[in-house]
Amino acid sequence: MSEWTTVIGLEVHAELETESKMFSSCPVVDSVEAEPNTAVDPLSLGLPGTLPVINMQAMEYGIMVGLALNCEIPPINQFARKNYFYPDLPKGYQISQYDRPLAVNGYIDIELEDGSSKRIRVRRAHMEEDTGKLSHIMGGSLVDYNRAGVPLLEIVSEPDISSASEAEVYARKLRSILRYLGVNSGDMSKGLLRFEANVSVRLESDTELRERTEIKNLNSIRNMVKAIDFEVKRQIKLYDNGETVKPATLGWDEAAQRITVQRYKERADEYRYFPEPDLPVVEVSREQVAQIAAELPALPAKLQARFVDELGLSAYDAGVLTAERAVAEYFQKIVDAGVDPKLAANWLTTDLFRMMNANDIERECIERIPVTAQNFASLLTLVQQGTINQSTARKQALPAMWSSGADARAIVDEQGLAQISDQDLIAASVSKVLGENDDMLQRFLGGNKKVLNALFGKIMGELRGKGDPAVVRRLLMDTIEKMELN
Ligand code: ADP
Ligand code: MG
Repeated sequence: MSEWTTVIGLEVHAELETESKMFSSCPVVDSVEAEPNTAVDPLSLGLPGTLPVINMQAMEYGIMVGLALNCEIPPINQFARKNYFYPDLPKGYQISQYDRPLAVNGYIDIELEDGSSKRIRVRRAHMEEDTGKLSHIMGGSLVDYNRAGVPLLEIVSEPDISSASEAEVYARKLRSILRYLGVNSGDMSKGLLRFEANVSVRLESDTELRERTEIKNLNSIRNMVKAIDFEVKRQIKLYDNGETVKPATLGWDEAAQRITVQRYKERADEYRYFPEPDLPVVEVSREQVAQIAAELPALPAKLQARFVDELGLSAYDAGVLTAERAVAEYFQKIVDAGVDPKLAANWLTTDLFRMMNANDIERECIERIPVTAQNFASLLTLVQQGTINQSTARKQALPAMWSSGADARAIVDEQGLAQISDQDLIAASVSKVLGENDDMLQRFLGGNKKVLNALFGKIMGELRGKGDPAVVRRLLMDTIEKMELN
């Protein structure tokens, strides 16, 4: 029912792509590809007598993210032990941060569908270590400690998100920022980036937030959106039936497309956090913060502004082209090759994206499509020079480049796709088509202006699509005008 509104806070875990683990020199390996338990050391296994050492590269990556999310970086942060037992955590505690996180009080501005923007506050971002991975198979469980101790940044939003679609925009923007910074690939299917959605609903008249549930196991942003929608409906139904929402950890069952309850939980903190006695507090000097800020790579918002100011793109196109770093780079290469930015933006966001969608290729994978930026630039240069017309480029050359990977120039030459600008040839087609379609011509002369496009189409067909549209249009008009005068 419409009087309920949605309240969402997102907790995001991002593995930081460092060479070694958070507290030891043990290498970080691909936790899906690598053989289980091939990247473990005494620290990953939590053996007695081991002592952690802070990975300063991971701390720097964390600060980069904090700054990119407009956070304050407190002068001191501190690690704490979060105590609980689970087989994927052999130490019996996770080293995390508690009351002194690395970054606090930030925000992400998200653009909504109606063109307005909304600020989602980021409460904190703190460093911790990842746990091992359990697989449950046929009556038993296996544990892989490759992932144990991998640097993990947890980014927690305030409950400022008011719908599944806002959550989607926030998630995409955050993922894009992480990728721009080069600290996380954003791969959710491998669990390198993990979203947990805290969800509750409220009435306008409520003075406090209601009980929330927490949805885990979300392996894609699409599934997160579906899970939130499902959960919101479930909660509203419970309240409408006079029941209550119990705090719980939920999962998304992808096969069944439904929420499952993993466990009901108590709200009280049972982790007995205390300051990690084996590590010193971390001091972050103002000079260090200033230096990291100065070296921060260009972020999507900044790049978007530059595409508008320097290349004359619309804010919308610039937004689409900068949402993914890989797309922005692909686009930049085309422009660097001398192609008009607006032409490039048009072709990229319509034709190329359409082909990528049809082939189920995510935007971030653009560098792996069969048409390289260089080759795409060659095609657009041929269009710009008038060697080939737009529709032949779109309907014949580009698909051929996609399927064969061949060079634009070679395809145009081999398939004879070059534009026909020869006046005599075009004039002959114009007379032929007008001669064969006197009925259409009469309708046009009688005032039905729309018929002109149909005649134009027939002449282009006669020229096998390769006529220079401007010349065709001009000769068609000239011929008709002469007829009108007679
Ligand atoms: P903890 O995990 O320590 O219990 P909090 O309760 O402060 O932490 O919040 C965890 C996450 O849940 C945050 O992202 C926060 O925005 C969100 N959250 C808190 N209360 C609600 C609520 N009533 N509805 C939806 N999200 C909430
Ligand atoms: Mg939490």
